[in-house]
Amino acid sequence: MTNPTKPALHPVHLVGAGPGDPELLTLKALRVLRAATVILVDDLVGEGVLALALADLPLPPRLVCVGKRGGCESTPQEFIEKLLVREALAGERVVRLKGGDPLVFGRAGEEIAALREAGLQIEIVNGITSGLSAAASLGIGWTDRRFDARGVLLVTGHTRHDCEGQDWDAVARVAAGGVTLVIYMGIAQIETIVAHLLRILPADLPAAVVQHASSDRERVALSALAGLVDTVAAHGIGSPAVLIIGRVTEEARRAAGFVKTQDRIYITA
Ligand code: SAH
Repeated sequence: MTNPTKPALHPVHLVGAGPGDPELLTLKALRVLRAATVILVDDLVGEGVLALALADLPLPPRLVCVGKRGGCESTPQEFIEKLLVREALAGERVVRLKGGDPLVFGRAGEEIAALREAGLQIEIVNGITSGLSAAASLGIGWTDRRFDARGVLLVTGHTRHDCEGQDWDAVARVAAGGVTLVIYMGIAQIETIVAHLLRILPADLPAAVVQHASSDRERVALSALAGLVDTVAAHGIGSPAVLIIGRVTEEARRAAGFVKTQDRIYITA
């Protein structure tokens, strides 16, 4: 009787590509990417990231693009999960590469569950999340004590259903207590979101939008909350972008002259 030899299985790596600048990739991410035989890539992964990570490899891995950009045609999540499992069970060294950090609005939970169900090992490699990178773009601290910022709240502007699924009154009340608000996936619905927030938050509360944080296409809008929608529209700022709302963004006006993209910072009162 012959025993079909089973391939040796490797842990699947869930890797954060960071916000865009390839140099923000961690050394661990770089090592894991260079050892991969298959990489499933999200469309928010910065263009230069794979070029840098895979440079000069004699045997480059197979790349599978599985973009799922909000509102656009996308690869179904179940398909991605099945593909991850199938490739890993075939003995491939699989990396799932996601923009920012895989654990922040990255549907990592579902993929981890699917891999566990198939009896596969998972290793997670953190990346720099875009909201934090946006704070660096603005030259501000998320939790600057001088503005009495007591914490940070990361929220999505778009729930599984739509932006009405978020409890904006509750979010605004937390922000009113001195917590910096960082809103992901909110730019497409910015008008509705800001209108909701203004029911509780003051019109002159400083706010910012950062598009393409950390990449050379980065652009920044600074405005009071009430003027944010107009400022963003006037300069055509779109996805991907994060909204940062709270007094800490006041500091960004002062820092504007010092940050690298000062020619792409749009400031209104
Ligand atoms: N896991 C990612 C977030 C995925 S959700 C992370 O940790 O960053 C997708 C949202 O992330 C986008 O709608 C946008 O709000 C934000 N985003 C991703 N890359 C960005 C970038 N370079 N600049 C600004 N926002 C970004």
